[in-house]
Amino acid sequence: MSRSAHPAGPRHADVLTEGHYSAPPADLNSLDPKVWSSTVTRDKDGELTVGGLEVSRLAEEFGTPAYFLDETDFRARCRAWADAFGRDADVFYAGKAFLSRAVVRWLHEEGLNLDVCSGTELATALDAGMPAERIAFHGNNKSEAEIRRAVEAGVGRIVLDSFQEIVRVAHIAQELGKVQKAFIRVTVGVEAHTHEFIATAHEDQKFGIALAGGQAAEAVRRALKLDGIELVGIHSHIGSQIFDMAGFEVSARRVVQLLAEVRDEHGVELPEIDLGGGLGIAYTSEDDPREPHEIAKALGEIVTRECSAAGLSAPRISVEPGRAIVGPTAFTLYEVGTIKPLEGLRTYVSVDGGMSDNIRTALYDAEYSVSLVSRTSDAEPMLVRVVGKHCESGDIVVRDAFLPADLAPGDLIAVPATGAYCRSMASNYNHALRPPVVAVRDGSARVIVRRETEEDLLRLDVG
Ligand SMILES: *Cc1c(COP(=O)(O)O)cnc(C)c1O
Repeated sequence: MSRSAHPAGPRHADVLTEGHYSAPPADLNSLDPKVWSSTVTRDKDGELTVGGLEVSRLAEEFGTPAYFLDETDFRARCRAWADAFGRDADVFYAGKAFLSRAVVRWLHEEGLNLDVCSGTELATALDAGMPAERIAFHGNNKSEAEIRRAVEAGVGRIVLDSFQEIVRVAHIAQELGKVQKAFIRVTVGVEAHTHEFIATAHEDQKFGIALAGGQAAEAVRRALKLDGIELVGIHSHIGSQIFDMAGFEVSARRVVQLLAEVRDEHGVELPEIDLGGGLGIAYTSEDDPREPHEIAKALGEIVTRECSAAGLSAPRISVEPGRAIVGPTAFTLYEVGTIKPLEGLRTYVSVDGGMSDNIRTALYDAEYSVSLVSRTSDAEPMLVRVVGKHCESGDIVVRDAFLPADLAPGDLIAVPATGAYCRSMASNYNHALRPPVVAVRDGSARVIVRRETEEDLLRLDVG
């Protein structure tokens, strides 16, 4: 077969040694419901619609690149988590995945709680009306000012991350004449099956206090002595983008062991445990995430079993999904620019964004999928790498994917499952203006975070 039969790129098998796809999908026009939000479909002209709105009209009105967030899907996911865990457990949405006032209001309306990990995330949550008692404050280096703000506001829990912080929070609470409800974050020594940089429960890392060597037990000992703190539970977060429940099982078992030790030593049964977040989502068709009700059932069974073995009454459970709620609800819409076929390698498709709106591919080797969304095409698949417009050769949005060989500048392509850790990690590299987040629901679209302007950027530059 001659190469010239495929002017836009070689056969995939010649070059594809890494990445998800070993073969092009059977139908490039189909939209896998695993990776797209619930209201996404193609209309009769073959154009992708979300919430009933066509992407070409959305692009015209809001520009590209832009994140389109399916509010209907977001709310449904909140309800699925809340229903799955029921009255005897608490679901905290991890705000760092993506936080804005509108999101806070949706969470509040759907009955979820909220994790924050900076004073500014806290301010956003309070400003949008989240009751302070439904907020948990995290972080490995909370400043005194942040702690004071959280205690003053009356946050429901502060998750203590170090010996120094136990004392710091107790002093500040006492100074303010308050008793702060707190959890201690422990590292349970589990290496979740995920990328090294996002696995957080092994001990050689900055978060938490190790169970190993009795350090967590010592932290509990100290916290129980301090008047400014009411220790209500133990927290463990083992990583992110995890599909395998085995890590949670080990984590829950070790946390329950600590609860039993605390009871034996102090005669106190801590009433709560928080098993963190980290539940995986489908970025490509090859990922098979679990449903919230399966996760709730599995975690509930593990905790009940371990507690009855230890003679403890079952504690109240919290979970903290971030990505699993917001990740699948949004896609990033880009306009195709330069297309560069590299003979014998692959075709580079440049878009009008890149690592400034999605750093995860460069940071974690994250995998994404991509589709042509402004039209369908019957052209044959070509192997592409979708890259941004930044001055880095690592500026890759989608490492390996297939798009139709008749792709042309001006086409719209979309990368699904970009709701989590994309806008929240966006940067101004090359003075890129961070894209807007547009919420779509029932045939209407509204900006919830507006596009940055040149003026916004220049206003910060006061030299
Ligand atoms: C990041 C984080 C989460 C959320 O992780 P996801 O992978 O988005 O579910 C939950 N809890 C803590 C403490 C975290 O740091």
